[in-house]
Amino acid sequence: MQKANSDKIKLVVYISMAVIALILIIFLILREPDPQYSERSFQTLGTYVTVRVAGEKVSTNTLLDIIENELNRINDKFSANNSSSVIYELNKNREIKADDETLFLINSALNISKITGSAFDLTVRPLVRLWGFDDEFSEKRLPEQWEIENILNIIDYRFIEVDESASRIRILKEGLEIDLGGIAKGYAVDRAINRVKEIDAGATGFVDAGGDIGIIGPKFGKLPWSIGIRNPRAESAYEINDIVHLYSGSIATSGDYERFFFEGDVRYHHILDPKTGYPAKNAISVTVIGDNLLMADALATAIFVLGYDNPGFDYFTNLGVQAMIISPDLDIKETKGFNYFRGKWEKMKFINKKDLIVLIILGGIISSFFIFSYVFSDKNVTGANVFIDGVLYMQIGSEGRYEIFDNENEYLQTVIFNNGRIKVIESECKNKVCEHTGWISNSNQKIICLPFKIVVEPIGGKDDSGVDLYTW
Ligand code: AMP
Ligand code: MG
Repeated sequence: MQKANSDKIKLVVYISMAVIALILIIFLILREPDPQYSERSFQTLGTYVTVRVAGEKVSTNTLLDIIENELNRINDKFSANNSSSVIYELNKNREIKADDETLFLINSALNISKITGSAFDLTVRPLVRLWGFDDEFSEKRLPEQWEIENILNIIDYRFIEVDESASRIRILKEGLEIDLGGIAKGYAVDRAINRVKEIDAGATGFVDAGGDIGIIGPKFGKLPWSIGIRNPRAESAYEINDIVHLYSGSIATSGDYERFFFEGDVRYHHILDPKTGYPAKNAISVTVIGDNLLMADALATAIFVLGYDNPGFDYFTNLGVQAMIISPDLDIKETKGFNYFRGKWEKMKFINKKDLIVLIILGGIISSFFIFSYVFSDKNVTGANVFIDGVLYMQIGSEGRYEIFDNENEYLQTVIFNNGRIKVIESECKNKVCEHTGWISNSNQKIICLPFKIVVEPIGGKDDSGVDLYTW
């Protein structure tokens, strides 16, 4: 009776443990993690910006303010159209005393102009103005060939002189103007994210500046953000061609659908080739993924200008970015590592590596518990038969201590049935002639205790010994 009860209790404990383990696993897989995101949208940097952020230490509203202020600050400081910006001043006065930030940004733009062989060129502004892409209110028109040629003669980043020791920037060619439109947006987003990280390293979210995106931190601190890449020929910006998944870093896309006009059947757009003076013809969309958005943004423009057939396309991976380009015939080409961002780790949205490790540990603990209890449990031993000299002396059916006496009522031996296992008190086995003492729980084991010829045979008891009989 006692034994049956303890079996029931064990069964209940096992089932409860299994249920708890199952609930834990389901909870781990399905739990919607804590951070609450707030979103804010506003217009700056010539585009529509959407920020989604959740703070760890700092309130979400404070973080949104920091980001909005930083983007506005950089827009005001570097927009060529803003009459109080340093770029406006430089274009007008041909020379400025520049602070470190301005020196850094102009140097970055010059450097990218250099490494892309002027496909990206920060002096492209006169051309941008000629086409009317400098401002949404400017008249967009197809210029005369001679107008384009006149401007091509002056566009060249080498006419920008940076004197770092004197903190001075000069434009050496008349008529030449600077436009940071292809890089300022990326820089601004990088800066805004840095500012957030400085005061709240655990903040997560993203800054989306018109489709150029910088990741603040993984979704809920552990999942990648899934980013759809627009189908360049779809009507809506929400029709996508592809999906990538980013835990961090940045992604920028340059497309011929962003700012354009039609003249007849021909689409004229805002990404201008500094070599021809016309909108770049040999691509319709370029997406670049990189560590920072300054690089990704500027290189998307550059790779667009260089076009689908550019033999140096793969070279850009040396700059730490991955790129995908779509040709006017809708052919798609990408650098080797681009596919990584579609990878299966990224696609497993419901589980990330950290959770998997927790699950493995948990699974390990639970399965070792079951293995352990299987190996050491004697749950099948329900009792024992005790023989003296071949004659059944007693049947043990429940756990306890059983004393064995001979016909003369002389004490011989004690058998212990405890926790599903059976043993005799070895020290009482006279002259150490007991065979197979110790706890037994296998159905084909027995304890033999000489010289009284006591044999204890378990009843039930699983046989996991791997052998059928013993020789000794
Ligand atoms: P994005 O939309 O990021 O490709 O940037 C395009 C903007 O960069 C345009 O609106 C221009 O202000 C500027 N831009 C256009 N063509 C070039 C170019 N070849 N190099 C540098 N900036 C350019
Ligand atoms: Mg760009």
